[in-house]
Amino acid sequence: MTHNTIKVALIGNPNVGKTSVFNELTGLNQQVGNYPGITVEKKVGFSKLSEYTKATILDLPGTYSLNASSMDESVVIELLMNKNDKNFPDVAVVVSEVENLKRNLLLFTQIKDLEIPTILVINMSDRMDAKGITLDIPFLEAQLKTKIALVSSRKKTGIAELKKLIINYKELPTEPCLNASSIDPDYFNSLRRAFPNQLLYKLWLVITQDVNFSNLHRKHIEENSFAKPKAELKRLQQKETIKRYQFINDTLKVGYIVDKTKATDIREKLDRILTHKIYGYLIFFGILLLIFQSIFDWSSIPMDFIDSSFAALSSFAKTHLPAGVLTDLIAEGIIPGLGGIVIFIPQIAFLFLFISVLEESGYMSRVVFLMDKIMRRFGLSGKSVVPLISGTACAIPAIMAARNIENWKERLITILVTPFTTCSARLPVYAILISLIIPDKRILGIFNLQGLTLMFLYMLGFGMAIVSAYALNKVLNIKSRSYFVVEMPSYKVPMFKNVGINVVEKTKSFVFGAGKIILALSVILWFLGSHGPNNTFHNAEEIVESQLQNKEISGEKEDLIASYKLEHSYIGIIGKSIEPVIKPLGYDWKIGIAVVSSFAAREVFVGTLATIYSVGSHAEEETTIKNKMAAEVHPVTGVKIFNFATGTSLLLFYAFAMQCISTLAITKKETNSWRWPMIQLAFMSGFAYTVCLIVYQLLK
Ligand code: GDP
Repeated sequence: MTHNTIKVALIGNPNVGKTSVFNELTGLNQQVGNYPGITVEKKVGFSKLSEYTKATILDLPGTYSLNASSMDESVVIELLMNKNDKNFPDVAVVVSEVENLKRNLLLFTQIKDLEIPTILVINMSDRMDAKGITLDIPFLEAQLKTKIALVSSRKKTGIAELKKLIINYKELPTEPCLNASSIDPDYFNSLRRAFPNQLLYKLWLVITQDVNFSNLHRKHIEENSFAKPKAELKRLQQKETIKRYQFINDTLKVGYIVDKTKATDIREKLDRILTHKIYGYLIFFGILLLIFQSIFDWSSIPMDFIDSSFAALSSFAKTHLPAGVLTDLIAEGIIPGLGGIVIFIPQIAFLFLFISVLEESGYMSRVVFLMDKIMRRFGLSGKSVVPLISGTACAIPAIMAARNIENWKERLITILVTPFTTCSARLPVYAILISLIIPDKRILGIFNLQGLTLMFLYMLGFGMAIVSAYALNKVLNIKSRSYFVVEMPSYKVPMFKNVGINVVEKTKSFVFGAGKIILALSVILWFLGSHGPNNTFHNAEEIVESQLQNKEISGEKEDLIASYKLEHSYIGIIGKSIEPVIKPLGYDWKIGIAVVSSFAAREVFVGTLATIYSVGSHAEEETTIKNKMAAEVHPVTGVKIFNFATGTSLLLFYAFAMQCISTLAITKKETNSWRWPMIQLAFMSGFAYTVCLIVYQLLK
């Protein structure tokens, strides 16, 4: 028996639970990529509908209507209008939710006009009792000319029915549920005569939308003198929307009954507190404090475990494998490199756990609402909070998230300042430096001093982003109008499955995205650190031995040889050559190497130091990175290298400097110009250098 694969497109307004339905249908069988040529995220999943039927499910970006006002929405329109697209669906599943059915149905009626077999999912059916809602499903099905699946992805009900409807998609009616062309019958009739083989609603979308549609270019239509003035098109579009809402209202009047006396809702009360002028901010601040304390406290246990496990693995490899270059590569290059990737997992997982719980619960929307008032003053939008907060994981998805901001100036400013927020790649750098220079004490018996320092650094990054935004708002001469719409979904207990999948996905994308760079750099660095260009490197042993005999130096011979080798390796040469520039900031050549190599990815800083120190380290107690750094002293003065002044200077350098090639690349892509990433680089790194110079000179 051959397997039948049905192509399904999942479409819906934001916040209707589309992702939850997608997760129910596909579980972990998901792939995340990008649409070709643009950076809109493309999620495809696979589902076994029955023994003989499978489905590939394309989760399209959330959209309010088929009137494209953002790149995300264009993706949906372009796919649904192009039958030749390899992703063109056999069946469209429009997800709506029971509390906002009226608004959700606007998109549904538009999709129906494209005459694709369409199923309507009414999700969140578990909310019906609390809201006093009753639905007349047969009536709605008859009016909307569709089949309805009443689903609760939370309670996992209705999914089996949905699967059945998908399997039998060929039985679905394809005719539209209302006659949109009645907004201007003469015009539409002549359109129909001129293009008899085309779907009328498609023609209308091509005329009114700014989308690419291969077979049917607007020019072609305009040549046939179907062009209309912009104002006239706008007027007709409004008329179309009104007509759709009239139809929806008439339908819901009979099929959707709300008994207000039954509705029990704490939403209003909660909203009043959470978006309150004072309590709202206090609560938000409190939640942030809790999150960062937890990240620091909870992840330190698995991190220490990972750190010592990799150290043990490395020495195991060294003692049990035959001595030689390959063993050195494995024990000193590859294993520490892998350790440098795995060590982030606890922090990233915890951070995304919190972020997705805040999103899932509906609280994040209140934060956006709360912050809009403040953000506007700095030239940002309330929606900038999402990129700025996502920036705490990584600036790359965060900059992409800025795409939700309709206003170009606000979007550009958000893109430019987002890299100031503390990304997860800075976290290991901060963590190790904080543990070296800040004592592990508690204030008032509750707050860990190290945790507070970490929080201060997060606030510093956020503050710097805000201040730069303010400056950019004054400097940038871009005119664009903006309006503010924010959705307030109802409060919900987060769904474990959604949170879990999000955490796994983000962690995976970090490990396999940045991981490759980290591993490759670790190996390159190991090579550069254990090889040198000339005789000084190759004859290290003899040179050190003769220096020892002449009493020019003292100490353990092995260590001295190792450090001599390192100094004369390729890496030592590079690090030394930039030393004059970084010395005023309190950095030696080893830190110099780490700073330079971490330009590819900040987190490489720790890995680099680990590699530098593991090259030529023999003392057993110095097996962990932290211990090695703590033990490092200046060869002449004997002063600790990672002292308070240098540590602070480094912390500030990593807080402010643009140390990330990938961020520059994404800024170039999103702004479509090299000008903005170059401005970002010059400004951030110049600022970092100046601040560190001043701070180090004052503290030393
Ligand atoms: P999307 O934006 O459409 O992808 O929506 P999500 O899947 O992220 O869900 C939005 C919110 O609705 C989350 O807080 C979910 O936990 C919640 N949610 C999803 N499905 C249901 C459901 O069936 N019932 C209830 N009560 N909440 C749900």
